[in-house]
Amino acid sequence: MTFEECRDYVTTAISRGVKAVYLTGGEPLLWSGLRDFLSWYYSLDTVLPLTILTNGTLIGTELAGYFKKFTSQGLTLRISLECYTRENNDDYRGTGSFVRALQGIKNLNEQGIRPWIAYVNKSGGSLDCSGTTQLEEDFRSRLGREHGLEIAGLKIIAAYGKGRFTGEVDYPVVSTDRISSGMTAVQCSYGIAISKNGTYPCPVLVDVPEAKLPYSLRDVVGASFTLDFDFCSSCFATGTRCGQ
Ligand code: SF4
Repeated sequence: MTFEECRDYVTTAISRGVKAVYLTGGEPLLWSGLRDFLSWYYSLDTVLPLTILTNGTLIGTELAGYFKKFTSQGLTLRISLECYTRENNDDYRGTGSFVRALQGIKNLNEQGIRPWIAYVNKSGGSLDCSGTTQLEEDFRSRLGREHGLEIAGLKIIAAYGKGRFTGEVDYPVVSTDRISSGMTAVQCSYGIAISKNGTYPCPVLVDVPEAKLPYSLRDVVGASFTLDFDFCSSCFATGTRCGQ
């Protein structure tokens, strides 16, 4: 997507009442339009919360310094880690990714920026509230004690059986009750995903051609669609509760 396309989508989204914007990928730090976008976005009269979801491996000292002027205006950075140990993280994200991501966090910390960590729950079930609290504390203490790093907190995301998790996630059967009670928690009930190909119910489905919605962004708010994709049962099985 070009900067101009993204700017136009975000302008429309804001006019339709969107409350927050997320840039994800792929890897958004590879996007050539990123700096033009941030300069434009933070020149708007009203700036909504903006989060960049990144693997963190490309955050050098220059980029960390560049982000500083925007984090002071509300930009949030969220860095993906699969564990607070190198071995477990690199099992999923590739050799060397842990060291590079931690260097990115260090560069941000030196600018006074504390990023969030995004962790994928691979259990195939939902973590309960005490589980999420303990996991966040483990990340905070291990990254602090062993690497001298500071984080803002831990964001837990459900694993889907695709990409690096293909064949890794078993999902329990989801009851009708659970679907009913979880309906307002799944992200498609309150969000929309935009890619260069059009509008989709959620980021999970942007590479599923059948999930492309027959609506423009202007018309999609409030439109209905059927949750009949395999990944939808994953959503309800893993849950998005406890502020996940
Ligand atoms: S995978 Fe299905 S249920 Fe989950 S957020 Fe996307 S559209 Fe909604």
